[in-house]
Amino acid sequence: MGKTAVVVGGGIGGLAAAIGLRRIGWEVTVVERAPTLEDAGAGISLAANGLRALDELGVGEAVRDASRGQYSGGTRTPEGARLVRMDGAVLEKAVGTPIMGIPRSTLHRLLCEALPAEALLIGSEASLVGQIAPGTVRVRCGDKVLDADLVVAADGIGSKVRGLLFPAHPGPVYSGSTVLRAITEQAVELSTDFELTWGRGAEFGHIAFRDGRAEWHAVLNLPAGTRFPDPLAELRRRFQDWHDPIRALLDATRPAAVLHHDVREIRTPLPSYTVGRIALLGDAAHAMTPNLGQGACQALEDAVTLAAALATEPTVEAALARYDAERRPRSQAVARAARQAGRMGQQLAHPLAVTLRNTAMRLTPSRAAARMILRHHAWVPPRLS
Ligand SMILES: Cc1cc2nc3c(=O)[nH]c(=O)nc-3n(C[C@H](O)[C@H](O)[C@H](O)COP(=O)(O)OP(=O)(O)OC[C@H]3O[C@@H](n4cnc5c(N)ncnc54)[C@H](O)[C@@H]3O)c2cc1C
Repeated sequence: MGKTAVVVGGGIGGLAAAIGLRRIGWEVTVVERAPTLEDAGAGISLAANGLRALDELGVGEAVRDASRGQYSGGTRTPEGARLVRMDGAVLEKAVGTPIMGIPRSTLHRLLCEALPAEALLIGSEASLVGQIAPGTVRVRCGDKVLDADLVVAADGIGSKVRGLLFPAHPGPVYSGSTVLRAITEQAVELSTDFELTWGRGAEFGHIAFRDGRAEWHAVLNLPAGTRFPDPLAELRRRFQDWHDPIRALLDATRPAAVLHHDVREIRTPLPSYTVGRIALLGDAAHAMTPNLGQGACQALEDAVTLAAALATEPTVEAALARYDAERRPRSQAVARAARQAGRMGQQLAHPLAVTLRNTAMRLTPSRAAARMILRHHAWVPPRLS
């Protein structure tokens, strides 16, 4: 079996794939078009499945050390009434860990540190040339040509590789929600590790970090492309009557730190995650709405599953067939569940529907709520030895 791979994209998925492939003895080049390797997002939650994948990649401990366990919090109404209590200790008992919150830049740095500098080709846009001989795929990066036994396309939601492999696929679509988020400039006094608050077609949430700072996000039902001249002022206005500590989180944020993106997803599932010796991974394969906090966790699962298949199957083709068979049903089911969670959660706007939903949530025992979450978290990775 061949042992060289080019990974297109140095996001969480691409870096994790490269670490996994190196752990099974492959030679890997990660090509990233951005001039520096960093994740511009704010913070991220990692559930047990993502953390277990990171353990298999050998970086779980470092990531846990830099994260904060989400033991307390849950879902509330704008007035502050509790709809669901999230008990991290229950999750910990069931799957060995609560959800962990970490700044994306820290996670990205820890993944980069697990790779040697020579495995990273930064500031270079990769374009897929295709299969140039049986078992050899070519990628062009500026004036460089890279030939490999395998190409992993981890080039994100706007994946050009996906477009080449599946030209008839409609690509990503707008979910109907736009998200503003940031990490606070300084520590904020918070009584919980994690909160989500649902109003009508609007959500505000926070994740507390280990150093006392926090990421907050505000999600709104709005037409795609809506932008605000002064995002913080707009959010203060929209969330002025909502409970504490929303105001404090906004006040602790520098205006320039606020990121604003429209939430897009791959709504039409791909018929395959592999074509020839090319594998799609992460958002390139299954970009999902963030409502379950599972997009990156699924990319981490992809990375470990791909490496394990390549380590154990007799040919690259057999390994890619196994990767597709194991990853497509699981990640597409999580993507469907995330979309559904968004529709019943943040996006729900009709007052009667919101009242009914909130009543149902209040009546759901917290153990049952935990069980629903655990469906997605209780994933056991294949071993990468
Ligand atoms: C608001 C929000 C909150 C989220 N919260 C969570 C959460 O709490 N937990 C969770 O698990 N997930 C979360 N997610 C999802 C998560 O962010 C993504 O699923 C994950 O980052 C995808 O990683 P990726 O590596 O597949 O893609 P990306 O991060 O998009 O990386 C793709 C990389 O490829 C590079 N690239 C693209 N084309 C080329 C090319 N031709 N040549 C070279 N490089 C190229 C890009 O520059 C980029 O660096 C959230 C998403 C959003 C939008």
